[in-house]
Amino acid sequence: DDSENLLSIRNLKVVYNSSIEAVRDVSLSVSAGKIVALLGANGAGKSTILKGVSGVLFTEDGEIENGSINFRGENISELMPDLIVGRGLVQVPEGRRLFAPLTVHENLVMGGHLVGSKVLAERLEFVFELFPRLKEKASHISGYLSGGEQQMVAVGRALMSDPKLLCLDEPSLGLAPQIIDEIFKVLRKLRDENGASILLVEQNAHRALEIADYAYIMENGRVVMDGAADALANNRDVKEFYLGLG
Ligand code: ATP
Repeated sequence: DDSENLLSIRNLKVVYNSSIEAVRDVSLSVSAGKIVALLGANGAGKSTILKGVSGVLFTEDGEIENGSINFRGENISELMPDLIVGRGLVQVPEGRRLFAPLTVHENLVMGGHLVGSKVLAERLEFVFELFPRLKEKASHISGYLSGGEQQMVAVGRALMSDPKLLCLDEPSLGLAPQIIDEIFKVLRKLRDENGASILLVEQNAHRALEIADYAYIMENGRVVMDGAADALANNRDVKEFYLGLG
């Protein structure tokens, strides 16, 4: 039953260049108000799932060969990226992809281009409350910020349109432990206080399982294990292979 699922992926198969099977028969779902983690090593297929969900596979000669992606009751697997954002499904891409020459404020406003000016002002206030540091640096050029601050801008920019589902691709990548703490604390707060729904793609299984409600583990394009995050964190195989506690 998919009625309580915000996002529901069924039997997804994605192929690049008509030959490389990056995702094979993957099913996963995100229900409202939850943080769902998608874990796995480099090349497991996690980013490909996010690219499928955001409608950008065609830019890399990738194709959905089978399966469906259902968001709020609608099959979005054939929609263009801008329409998917318009439906409320917004990404924080790997590597942040900020407009480096623009200020923090300008980057945030870009993220709110779909909302009216009144909502825009409210959202800006909301983002500045979540990340006080961005308020201090609102007039700074984004390209000169630290990696952690840039990640905050990327998350803030995605939040500007008040998304129904926030997808993050490796937000912890390359960041110092303390900054990861700060960013993950914000994700937890968004869920707990604002009822946000989050799909979190991470190689850092340890961090992700700490804040997630549910998690899927991928290997070679397939989901090999899934379950409640606390159960997975205590699972012997997960500890050995993904948490380095073997
Ligand atoms: P990473 O952490 O490196 O992003 P991942 O789990 O997200 O890893 P994907 O990036 O989805 O994995 O890659 C899955 C498979 O698809 C890999 O074998 C990869 O080499 C291949 N692949 C990814 N993008 C392309 C592309 N544009 N063209 C061809 N093959 C690709």
